Amino acid sequence: MLRRLLTQTTSRRLLSSNTPFFSKPSLSPFSSLPSSPDPPSSASSSTTVENVEDSTSAAAGTTISIDRSSLFNPPDHSHEPTPDSELVKHLKSVIKFRGGPISVAEYMEEVLTNPRSGYYMNRDVFGARGDFITSPEVSQMFGEMIGVWSVCLWEQMGKPERVNLIELGPGRGTLMVDLLRGTSKFRNFTESLHIHLVECSPALQKIQHQNLKCVDEGSSEKNAVSSIVGTPVHWHASLEDVPSGVPTIIIAHEFYDALPVHQFQKTPRGWCEKMVDVGEDSQFRFVLSPQPTPAALYLVKRCTWATPEEREKLEHVEISPKSMDLTQEIAKRIGTDGGGALIIDYGMDGMISDSLQAIREHKFVNILDDPGSADLSAYVDFPSIKHSAEEASENVTVHGPMTQSQFLGSLGINFRVDALLQNCDDEQAESLRSGYWRLVGDGEAPFWEGPDEQTPIGMGTRYLAMAIVNRNQGTPAPFQSLPCQSSRSEYLLKGKMYGFEALTFNIHSGYLEAIVRGHRAGLLTTADYNNLCQCENLDDIKMHLSATKYGSYLQNEPSPLHTTTIVEKCTLKLVDDYKHMICQATEPMSTFLEYIRYGHMIDNVVLIVTGTLHERDVQELIEKCHPLGMFDSIATLAVAQNMRELYRLVLVDTPLAPYFSECLTSEDLDDMNIEIMRNTLYKAYLEDFYKFCQKLGGATSEIMSDLLAFEADRRAVNITINSIGTELTREDRKKLYSNFGLLYPYGHEELAICEDIDQVRGVMEKYPPYQAIFSKMSYGESQMLDKAFYEEEVRRLCLAFEQQFHYGVFFAYMRLREQEIRNLMWISECVAQNQKSRIHDSVVYMF
Ligand code: SAH
Repeated sequence: MLRRLLTQTTSRRLLSSNTPFFSKPSLSPFSSLPSSPDPPSSASSSTTVENVEDSTSAAAGTTISIDRSSLFNPPDHSHEPTPDSELVKHLKSVIKFRGGPISVAEYMEEVLTNPRSGYYMNRDVFGARGDFITSPEVSQMFGEMIGVWSVCLWEQMGKPERVNLIELGPGRGTLMVDLLRGTSKFRNFTESLHIHLVECSPALQKIQHQNLKCVDEGSSEKNAVSSIVGTPVHWHASLEDVPSGVPTIIIAHEFYDALPVHQFQKTPRGWCEKMVDVGEDSQFRFVLSPQPTPAALYLVKRCTWATPEEREKLEHVEISPKSMDLTQEIAKRIGTDGGGALIIDYGMDGMISDSLQAIREHKFVNILDDPGSADLSAYVDFPSIKHSAEEASENVTVHGPMTQSQFLGSLGINFRVDALLQNCDDEQAESLRSGYWRLVGDGEAPFWEGPDEQTPIGMGTRYLAMAIVNRNQGTPAPFQSLPCQSSRSEYLLKGKMYGFEALTFNIHSGYLEAIVRGHRAGLLTTADYNNLCQCENLDDIKMHLSATKYGSYLQNEPSPLHTTTIVEKCTLKLVDDYKHMICQATEPMSTFLEYIRYGHMIDNVVLIVTGTLHERDVQELIEKCHPLGMFDSIATLAVAQNMRELYRLVLVDTPLAPYFSECLTSEDLDDMNIEIMRNTLYKAYLEDFYKFCQKLGGATSEIMSDLLAFEADRRAVNITINSIGTELTREDRKKLYSNFGLLYPYGHEELAICEDIDQVRGVMEKYPPYQAIFSKMSYGESQMLDKAFYEEEVRRLCLAFEQQFHYGVFFAYMRLREQEIRNLMWISECVAQNQKSRIHDSVVYMF
């Protein structure tokens, strides 16, 4: 599979690998041509066309005659006249037989799927040597991620024993091959599958048969078994032919864009349908219908789903009745049989004006030029899919669209690419990276290290994903507005997908894991917090805590208590618990536990160095240090006059030494440099910890990657917000972000240039897991951000307990305890200062 990636150089509907992705419907060759200057013919002056709004009644029984008044210019044909192909002859005979032009939709349908000579029917059109490349052909990760989506949905469906997995328009079958291979560890899932491929092209059916390594069952090639995971495979010409009555998962990738579209144009006489005719020179040309056409009914319907402003501004409209009908069929099937459908295509979350285009050998060509020799495709109108589905069945819900980049990102493509990169050679790595960028990027890939001419150009935002699911299935991954709904199964799934050794884990780490899981029950509950909030003074708080794990640590403290004493004693308890764990741990868990301390070490270094800069007493500073971040030479920090000394005298003997190299370029120890030092050390630490966890592999790698990625992203946001309006340049700011996380690298590029909090919010809202956090804030405000991030962190930490056999629980437990202490500090402070009404401002509840 990886080898296949190496040979690919261009992307779907790219003119060449480094030509910007087409994005505007106006690239259609005709949209820019002026209307014909021909004088109106006498026939036209007597023919009027009603506005679409009132065309319904007029549509019935009308025949189409040609209004020459608004003919488009006939297209320029640059090529020499050639003998008509079979398809051209056929199209001309249809037009002749009808006695008038045919709709663009009919033209498109004939061109693409005419059984004898349609574009798709007789050949392999994909790949570098074909006309275009699609996402599954760009990278194996695409099909694998669709596999993740399918297994998540299957779990939400209640893991049925039999499922119809239907793919509409499978092309070469590559997506299905990668899906099956990627999910092969989920035996119950793959064993439940009956694959149904809806494919009109006999040539492509053969290729799918081959790629899926099918062995025929009986005499028919339409029923076979794929030897990839032993699933039955059947072929059908249309969805209607697929047997129903079984829970169903439907995948339609780049299928809708091949469905025929009707095009309409606004004229002084109202909306007219654009038609294809044969001119006197025997060439195809566009004309406008003088009368309302049957498709106008669908136009009326489509307009009822648009806002008046949207309708007003369009001069051209493209609609696809076939897409609407197909969606209705999908929705009815899903509504009755259960399951869901995933539609991914390039398109828009709004009405489409004029997007039909023809592509041959990776170049745009004239739509009417040599039909059948070029791909025709149009933008997909996602709102019309949504409304059609909702109209067809009350039992389905529609989710999205979201961008392909959000979709793949939320399903964990970052982890997948990292996992694959661990185990490949340089050439494969470059290919994986370029594939990744094409799938998730939305322009030229930043930081591209390969040859310039191969800079990948992304499909991440032009392609949108939408799901239609049976109501009983709830919200499918990753469309949840509240991220917590999906994560458990996603965690389980991804953990399993990347493999972990449950048994060996238990031998080495089972005992400690059990202890931590037991400790978890001792975390303060919402009821505990409610009681604490009732306290009148700190002695009351002590009394309430006496029944908890902190009881013995506070019992000998004399009244009146101070907040600092409560915090100190609770921290002491945390440190004792930590020491207990680390004493029991063997490698590599001891190193893992050590890593948890480094963040505190960094904070302690910064505290002492800043304090000395402001001439505070060293002993006093040391008392303020976090005990988990203590090291022997910490007091000596106060002696250092500059960064180099700091390193040479003190830090060289600590685990932080390797993180310090980037800081050495700065000589001075001033406030700004110290903050840069803190963030540089933290970045290096997080990246190092992340790499360490990746090496551990299995569920630890999976869960810790997620938790550390969240930490890296949170820090990137804080660095951005804190550096707005300071001297820190964009480049310097970017250097402080850790090189991993959901925001890496695209979000980083965007955060680096933010100049106010609303711009930060704009960037973050593109990432579904962070949307909920930012939606809690009003515009221009950042005060609640810390709390919102803490809440999200706690949610993720709690989720880490949902899966077994990984070190993430130790990390999660320590972090939850630290949050618990922050809660206690806040409550105590509010009680001590008689500000109880503010208690809820900062307390983060858990479990
Ligand atoms: N999903 C594939 C291929 C997309 S191209 C990929 O992403 O690589 C469109 C596919 O749909 C082709 O396989 C084509 O033969 C098929 N197709 C197009 N119109 C169809 C129709 N009306 N009925 C069935 N299959 C169709």
